[in-house]
Amino acid sequence: MPIDPILDPSVLAKELSGYHLINGKLVAPKNGKTFDVLNPATGKVIGQAADGDADDVAIAVAVAKAGQKDWAERPARERGKLLAECGRILMSHSEELGRLVALESGKALRTESRVEASVLADMFVFFGGLASELKGETVPFNPNMMTLTTREAVGVVGAIIPWNVPMMLMAIKVAPALVAGNAVVVKSAEDTPLAVLRVCQIMQEVLPAGVFNILSGFGPSCGGPLVEHKDVKKVSFTGSVETGRTVYRAAAEKLIPVTLELGGKSPMIVMGDADLDKAIAGAIGGMRFTRQGQSCTAASRMLVHESLHDEFVKRLIDKVNTLKIGDPLDEETDIGTIINRKQFDKVCGYIEVGEKEGATKNELSALPTDSALSDGLFVRPVIFTNVDPNARIAREEIFGPVACVFKFKTFEEALELANDSDFGLAATVWTTDLKTALVATKRLEAGFVQVNQNLVVQPNLSYGGIKLSGLGKEASLESMLEHFTYKKTIILNME
Ligand code: ADP
Repeated sequence: MPIDPILDPSVLAKELSGYHLINGKLVAPKNGKTFDVLNPATGKVIGQAADGDADDVAIAVAVAKAGQKDWAERPARERGKLLAECGRILMSHSEELGRLVALESGKALRTESRVEASVLADMFVFFGGLASELKGETVPFNPNMMTLTTREAVGVVGAIIPWNVPMMLMAIKVAPALVAGNAVVVKSAEDTPLAVLRVCQIMQEVLPAGVFNILSGFGPSCGGPLVEHKDVKKVSFTGSVETGRTVYRAAAEKLIPVTLELGGKSPMIVMGDADLDKAIAGAIGGMRFTRQGQSCTAASRMLVHESLHDEFVKRLIDKVNTLKIGDPLDEETDIGTIINRKQFDKVCGYIEVGEKEGATKNELSALPTDSALSDGLFVRPVIFTNVDPNARIAREEIFGPVACVFKFKTFEEALELANDSDFGLAATVWTTDLKTALVATKRLEAGFVQVNQNLVVQPNLSYGGIKLSGLGKEASLESMLEHFTYKKTIILNME
């Protein structure tokens, strides 16, 4: 029976409250415990999340293990067609999903949440179409032996996801894992358990029960047991560097493969010959001001040639000042709220640190005046200039709407500054000179490098970082083959 979209997110939040989704059904946690889910724009409780623990992990993994056998035995293209069908159904629910994720995450509906909902659907359509690419090879080993390789599913995949783009970041794990014949158990992020639960519920209309399960709960008590479970054969994680290390250590104990998408402090080099209009638009988009800067790819280090620096800063300030901070569900709103009190305090703390470190603070746009939003976690975007490249605000990931602008004289100096970071997720260069563009793309130490644009994660483009930004790639054919299958070598002796 098709599920009808529910456009009032507060009704939906209540309906989904207190559940995991295991074996095709919403189920309460074994321990009966739940915790509150808040609307960060008002501080009000909108629903509850199941407070899952090792018992629920055990149930979900057992169900996934049982379901995976039949799933892997279906023809690859049949799995692909089902996933593409999920994408189409999710698209018909995109307004509903956009509203729900806006309510629980504080991301503005028009600029962010609605966009996320449509990219989510597109990811399933994209990966569904890749099913027939699960090919092996023949190997010229010995003329008397037929030697070939096949791609085999790894089994049960554990996926641990964050709160900033929960549906899309879940899709880039779940879609390739399922198409490749695995079953999945997702552990959602504490602050955003509802929209992803709804996605999973909608997909049950098409998928066999048990292949896609989702648990909510806290990191150490629910995510930890999932990573450690003996039948979880692969973990894909997106989150902080510190938790990524914990997950990696636990996976090392079991010697299972992991994919880690961690933090960033991405540089954006604006050369003296850059098209300034494009660079300003790219800085606004790249810094994800409309997502309150809550992005691992945020272009939070803007390195601008001295000839353009002052003009760049002036125009950037003017542009950010036009962005409206407000109720995430209001169509007029460009910028919503920070996700939770802990992050809010962290971001505000960094703004204070920046001032103490002697940088010049430009605090922009205006906080909402609506009394209904007086407890909302709104932060005005900040652009720091005159920043010491060794300052904490220049080196540490803030994960908030705080950008640092630096001035450089030579291209060499810009490249050195750009690469002088513990992170290596994304980088951009803005120039009208082909040679400069080519040299920059070669020398920038990052996994995702762009010239004169700053796109977000795209289906078909391998996305992932180096250094502390993580291990492995997502969103592409390569990610499906390398991260959700293993290669089996088969030799047939024909003598
Ligand atoms: P943040 O601090 O922004 O919440 P985290 O990296 O801690 O970032 O969280 C990302 C995801 O990792 C969340 O789903 C969280 O619950 C989960 N997580 C946190 N700690 C652990 C852990 N010890 N083991 C497994 N997952 C964890």
